[in-house]
Amino acid sequence: MRREGRRVLVAGGAGFLGSHLCDALLARGDAVLCVDDFSTGSRGNIAHLDAHPRFDLLRHDVTLPLSVEVDEIYNLACPASPLHYQRNPVQTTRTAVLGALNLLDLAGRRGVKILQASSSEIYGDPTRHPQDEGYNGNVNPIGPRACYSEGLRCAETLFFDHHRQGGLRIRIARIFNTYGPRMHPDDGRVVSSFVARALRGEPVTLFGGGTQTRSFCYVGDLVEGLLRLMDAPDEVTGPVNLGDPREVTIREIAELACHLAGSTAPLEHRPLPQDDPMQRCPDITRARALLGWEPRTTLEEGMARTVASFRQVLGNA
Ligand code: NAD
Repeated sequence: MRREGRRVLVAGGAGFLGSHLCDALLARGDAVLCVDDFSTGSRGNIAHLDAHPRFDLLRHDVTLPLSVEVDEIYNLACPASPLHYQRNPVQTTRTAVLGALNLLDLAGRRGVKILQASSSEIYGDPTRHPQDEGYNGNVNPIGPRACYSEGLRCAETLFFDHHRQGGLRIRIARIFNTYGPRMHPDDGRVVSSFVARALRGEPVTLFGGGTQTRSFCYVGDLVEGLLRLMDAPDEVTGPVNLGDPREVTIREIAELACHLAGSTAPLEHRPLPQDDPMQRCPDITRARALLGWEPRTTLEEGMARTVASFRQVLGNA
């Protein structure tokens, strides 16, 4: 849908998901204000937008108040990979909580809609499979992942309290594992690590035989889900799970990465680490019913695009 003259704020717009969201908004005719402190994002992710007449960039830390003129707000400003969010856990909680507060205040002052990118991590170590939005989760509040999961749980609380208290128009997306071009090659996540190692000709490491399953959503599908949620009628506040419910084994991902990268290095086997996260798989019944959304990209297509982009970034063309 093309909306004349609308200016959309994307906090975290220089990150993996945020940069794809900026592309999609610009492609449909919106103007975009990307706000980012470049802590985990990069200028490279948005370099192609530098000269775009409807794209503006503001270097800003969302833990500080912000006053800008915008018509819609997406909050994706938070480090997302465990390696990144555990590097400075206090700053992670600060970003999730104060960032949400500052952007909610801005949305309230301007009277505009605001969407929070939340995460499947708010379900913690789930005791219910697959996870639907009615499940309240099983989070260890003092564990090493809590800075992220509790931070985002608090952000969701702030969104709903602003909605109930001040009538703010809110949307909450609970995003499950997403992959694609512009993931950080060294962020320690499964797809990025496997692809980067395969392209470098290094052995891909499988823990515990690689029979554990995961579900991965291609970034293009995920961004389409975010747009649909924002555009949905105001009673659709969410939370809405966005993710790909098709489960694949870690071994399948490894083999596909090696095949597409043309790597002949053998797979390396290690024992399963104790803190290996439990399987998480989204129940997307709500997204299907309310947004008419479901992922369409096959793992083969998505991985092929990911490998091609990593090949360029790693200078391996
Ligand atoms: P990312 O790390 O690539 O992007 C986050 C962006 O936010 C980066 O550009 C970073 O520089 C910016 N940022 C961090 N702290 C900031 C601050 N204080 N002020 C301004 N900017 C700041 O991560 P991503 O994968 O693109 O994730 C984006 C959002 O989606 C996050 O909120 C994350 O919680 C959520 N999410 C992502 C996934 C996934 O699989 N990628 C899964 C669940 C949830």
